[in-house]
Amino acid sequence: MSPQPEQGEKVPADLGIGSLCVWGGEGSDGASTPTEVSVVRSVAFGYAELEEWRSVAVGESSGHIYSRNTNPTVSALESKIAALEGAEAATCFASGMAAISATLLALVSPGQRVVSIRDTYGGTSKLFLEILPRLGMHVTLCASEDHEAIEREVAAGCRMLYVESPTNPMLKVLDLARLARAGHHSGALVVVDNTFATPINQRPLALGADLVVHSATKFLGGHGDALGGAVAGRRHLVQQIFHFREITGAALDPTGAYLILRGLKTLHLRIAQQNRSAHAIADWLAGDTRVQRVFYPGLPAHTNHEVASAQMRGFGSVLSFELTAGETAVAQVLRKLRLAHRAANLGAVSTTAGPPATTSHVECSPEERAALGIPEGLIRYSVGIEDTEDLIQDLDQALSG
Ligand SMILES: *Cc1c(COP(=O)(O)O)cnc(C)c1O
Repeated sequence: MSPQPEQGEKVPADLGIGSLCVWGGEGSDGASTPTEVSVVRSVAFGYAELEEWRSVAVGESSGHIYSRNTNPTVSALESKIAALEGAEAATCFASGMAAISATLLALVSPGQRVVSIRDTYGGTSKLFLEILPRLGMHVTLCASEDHEAIEREVAAGCRMLYVESPTNPMLKVLDLARLARAGHHSGALVVVDNTFATPINQRPLALGADLVVHSATKFLGGHGDALGGAVAGRRHLVQQIFHFREITGAALDPTGAYLILRGLKTLHLRIAQQNRSAHAIADWLAGDTRVQRVFYPGLPAHTNHEVASAQMRGFGSVLSFELTAGETAVAQVLRKLRLAHRAANLGAVSTTAGPPATTSHVECSPEERAALGIPEGLIRYSVGIEDTEDLIQDLDQALSG
C-alpha cells in the first residue's frame, strides 16, 4: 500500500516549542486556502487518471488513496507531533494502547525478548504479562527504580527496552539517557512512553530514545473528548509501525485527529499552568498533616528529584497522595471534591481524581496492585487548568472531612 507521505518540515525546526505547537507541521501559505487544517471525512480519494492513481498507490508520488492508510487530517497531526518530539516521522492510532500494541507487535518477533519495568501503564502491563508471551515473545519486567537490574537484563540481550517516565500512578522517574545508552550498547531499540511528561516537559528522542509513544487521549488532546495514540521517532521504524497499522487497521478517525490537533495548539500554555499548579498543590499537600505521603517528582524529598530536575523542563501535572486517615477515608474525600471529575481520564483541562483501582490499574487485581507497590489508599490527582488557589481550597474542604 501507499507509504506515509513525507513529513517534511513546513516551518523551521528551531522555533520555540510554543511556536511549534501552533505552526509545527502546518502550511503557512496561500491567501485563499483555509488557515486551519480541515476535517477530511472522505474514506477514499478519487483519481480521474489511472496512471496518476497508480503512481500514488505505489508511493511514487504523494497523495491519499484510502483513509485506513493515510488521511490529510491525520497526516497534519502526525507532522505536528513529529515536530514537537523532534522526530523524523510520526504515525497516529485510534488510541494510545493501539499505538503501544502496534509498536511492540511490529518490531518484536516470536523468540525475541522485551525488557521493561513493572510500573508501566496497566494496559501495557497486561500486554507484557498476557499477550506477548502467548505469541512466543519473552518479557522481563524489572523494578522501575533498579537501573542496575535493567542494565543487566538489557546487556543479556533483548530486542527492545520499553520504559515509561514518570510512571503512573507512583510518579517514579527513570534516567532515560542512561537507559538509552544501555539499550544501544547491546543493540536494543529504546522506546519511551512520554504520555505523562509531554514533549513540553521532556523529549526522550533528544535523550537517546529511538521511539516515543503517546496516549494522545491525555495531554496532547487535552480536553477529554478524543481518543488517540501516536508513535514518533526514527523514520524507518515509524514506517514499519505505520505499515503494521495500515494492515491491522487501528486508524485514527479524522475528527479525533482534528480535536487533538486543535488541542495541541495550546499544549505549551496548558502544560505551563498545569506544571505550576501541580507543584504548588504538591507543596501544599506535603505540608498538611491530613496527608501522609505525596508523590510528585518536583518535591525535593521525592526519591528521583535529582534525575527529574536534570531531564525534565517541568515536573508535570499528575501527583498522587495517601491520606493519614487511611484507605477508608478515600471515598469520602473523593465525594467531597467539587472541582474534579471522579473519572479514569487524566491530562485534560479539567482536574480528575481517582484511586488506582478504578483508573490506571483497573485491569489488575488487588493482589497485583499490592505486588506493584501501589497502595489501595492512594488518590491520583491530575491537575487541570483551573486557578491554583481554587484547587487548593477545594482539596482543603474535601480533606476536612
Ligand atoms: C492512558 C495511557 C495509555 C493508554 O492510552 P489510551 O489512549 O487510553 O489507549 C498508555 N500509557 C499511559 C502512560 C497512559 O496514561
